[in-house]
Amino acid sequence: STMPPLLSAIANAGRHGVLAKSAVVMERLGQIDAVALDKTGTLTEGTPRVTDIRPLPGTRLTEDALLALAASAEHPSEHPLARAVVDAARERRLSLHETLDFTSTPGRGVSAGVDGHTVEVGSPARLLPTAPDTVRDLVEELEVTGQTAVLVLRDGAPAGVIGIADRLRPDAAATVAALTELTGRTPVLLTGDNERAARHLAAQVGISDVRAGLLPQDKVAAVQKWEGEERRVLVVGDGVNDAPALAAAHTGIAMGRAGSDLALETADAVVVRDELATIPKVVALSRAARRLVV
Ligand code: ADP
Ligand code: MG
Repeated sequence: STMPPLLSAIANAGRHGVLAKSAVVMERLGQIDAVALDKTGTLTEGTPRVTDIRPLPGTRLTEDALLALAASAEHPSEHPLARAVVDAARERRLSLHETLDFTSTPGRGVSAGVDGHTVEVGSPARLLPTAPDTVRDLVEELEVTGQTAVLVLRDGAPAGVIGIADRLRPDAAATVAALTELTGRTPVLLTGDNERAARHLAAQVGISDVRAGLLPQDKVAAVQKWEGEERRVLVVGDGVNDAPALAAAHTGIAMGRAGSDLALETADAVVVRDELATIPKVVALSRAARRLVV
């Protein structure tokens, strides 16, 4: 072809299912030498499902009542965990309450007025750092099996815990291996989720460097630290919580199918075909194009 090398690299990347926003992106992608991957929606499929519903003894809540409370609060959220909770409530044909004053905090969870109560749903560690033993034991029981435990608070008091699990993408391990080969370094996992669930998953794809319980700005700090050590970091993520790190990275790639609007807007490139394995392919393509240009 007579196309300039970088343009033809963009066209090739497009054919592989990665949409680069400019020629500069392909050039930068060819320079990366370290990779940071998000967990939920990036290494996993991003369609988590409710696997356990545990009202706390003493609350007199049924499973359905706990789920309806949580789903009502989660209804306006676009977070994959929120969608899992709402879908489970729909499957049980539960009627949801009206939601007032909804607020969402990335890396933490949601808060809303539901049925005359303030209901919060989210990370146990963030919502209730000094939880009673009953809550801690329940959370641990779910997390050791790789589930994400989501805590439900009603007027500040624990109402119950919901276990949610997500499948690893079928090409996750192969992608980690290919990126390791290309950069000479094993990718790291940056996640807002809990350490137990994160390590359980990381072990299955060959990642040992796991940074868990991170807020969006913690992901940025990790990326900036490596860039200060002269690494050119590729960040791959899907969530609102990943947007600042995608912006701070040498190059940011968002997962397109389940990706939040903010992540898609902020990233330099988008994986449109929803295959993680296209990422090492386009990194290799970008490097080949750079060699032709330079
Ligand atoms: P990741 O970095 O793995 O994509 P997030 O930063 O999106 O994860 O979420 C981190 C944690 O924050 C979740 O594991 C959950 O505990 C909590 N969380 C955030 N948003 C929500 C929500 N809408 N509902 C329930 N939990 C949430
Ligand atoms: Mg995510």
